[in-house]
Amino acid sequence: MEVSGCLVAPAVFKTVVIEYLGQAGSIPVHLRQLCLRGAALATSDVRRRVPRTDVILADGRLQEPLVRLGRSIVKNTVQAVQARVRAGDTEADAAVEAVLAALPAETTGHRRVLNASGVLLHTNLGRAPLSEAALRAVSVTSGTTDLEFDLETGRRGRRGRGALAALAQAIPAAEGVHLVNNGAAALVLAATAMARDREIIVSRGEMVEIGDGFRLPDLLESTGARLREVGTTNRTVLRDYTDAIGPSTGFILKVHPSNFVIKGFTAAASVRELAGVGAPVVVDIGSGLLRPHPTLPDEPDAETVLRDGADLVTASGDKLLGGPQAGLIAGRRELVEKLRRHPLARGLRIDKLTLAAMEATLCGPPAPVMRYLQADLKVLLSRAEALAASLTCHGVDAYEVPSEATVGGGAAPGVVLPSAAVSVPASLALALRLGTPAVVGRVERDRCLLDLRALDAADDAIVCEAVLGAVGREQEGRG
Ligand SMILES: *Cc1c(COP(=O)(O)O)cnc(C)c1O
Repeated sequence: MEVSGCLVAPAVFKTVVIEYLGQAGSIPVHLRQLCLRGAALATSDVRRRVPRTDVILADGRLQEPLVRLGRSIVKNTVQAVQARVRAGDTEADAAVEAVLAALPAETTGHRRVLNASGVLLHTNLGRAPLSEAALRAVSVTSGTTDLEFDLETGRRGRRGRGALAALAQAIPAAEGVHLVNNGAAALVLAATAMARDREIIVSRGEMVEIGDGFRLPDLLESTGARLREVGTTNRTVLRDYTDAIGPSTGFILKVHPSNFVIKGFTAAASVRELAGVGAPVVVDIGSGLLRPHPTLPDEPDAETVLRDGADLVTASGDKLLGGPQAGLIAGRRELVEKLRRHPLARGLRIDKLTLAAMEATLCGPPAPVMRYLQADLKVLLSRAEALAASLTCHGVDAYEVPSEATVGGGAAPGVVLPSAAVSVPASLALALRLGTPAVVGRVERDRCLLDLRALDAADDAIVCEAVLGAVGREQEGRG
């Protein structure tokens, strides 16, 4: 039926048409013209009422957002508001106010999240939060900077020298250090440079899946290296490795099972044992501890592993090191140099913002993750008590409870960190997640636990506001 553009009661028009069709088999010309004219009139009436895009964009109130957010974001919001005016949901006169109210606060769709989950390194929440010092370093480096330039000589300088020097200083046992994009990239580079068309000997108990369906064996084989699996899931002894060593051995790989624990009848060859067997030993420690940590005695660290005789260590920068996403490589000078000069190294090169954040993490004050790891339980409990008290004052069903936090994010599996939480009704969990900032808690037995270990004391007031806001929105939703 060629009456598209008919904005007035198409259903009514259709009924009329169908009635006529039923009676006479065709629509009388006069009725058809009448309907089309009515439709055109109605369309132009609505069009007249919807303010034009250029008129809205020229409004003085939108000039600051146009500069801050850019034309594209503001224009998209304007178009969304125009659609609402057309649908009759917003008054034409209030279009600019509606645009202002609907504009996003930032140019990123990502939202700030307060991590009240009790998982210190939450992979889905961006793992390690950066320190203030790292943020400042990123800001300094974000413009043009002496990234690969020696300001004294005016010539090319070594890229990332500050971060590399800091890393070398943090791991005295390392003769050489290098940085790449992430822990997986560090492994890929080692496998490519040292074991392409050769064998990597690895225990069946260490063939780890690191999350989101990615498995280390697949990653390693994608480089052209062959995996020589030895031992069993629960037991792999020195003999298993020595029996497998041959002319095609690239290296022996030890992987820290960083996201699970095997208990019971188990055995594993130590780095110290493997160091003497005649093949290079690469250890993927995963979580990025550079030195032993008193709270995590079972977590391997780069310095100890190298002292024990490993030739190369790889790790993530955004796990227990508490820095930006990065891959750490440390070990024997000639091996690190071989990796650094390999063509693939250029494809895994770390960017200037990450280098800056890494340097600040290594040299600056302790990263937030370290503070959370060492947080005093008594302090956490009294913070939870105070937060619960202020919420109760406002009539919220809230009380403090002891809680158990974990390290998470592929580090220290099985370690439980005693913690403190505020318990609120589970029905608030969604509203808390949708608030600004978002708060992500942990739902357990019909209660939403807001664990304080991965939050700074200064965040408590923000969590309090967020809960009150969530209660308010929930009541509005019900009312
Ligand atoms: C996390 C992890 C990786 C991967 O590191 P990314 O930085 O996430 O790429 C590799 N190996 C182990 C043992 C890990 O824990």
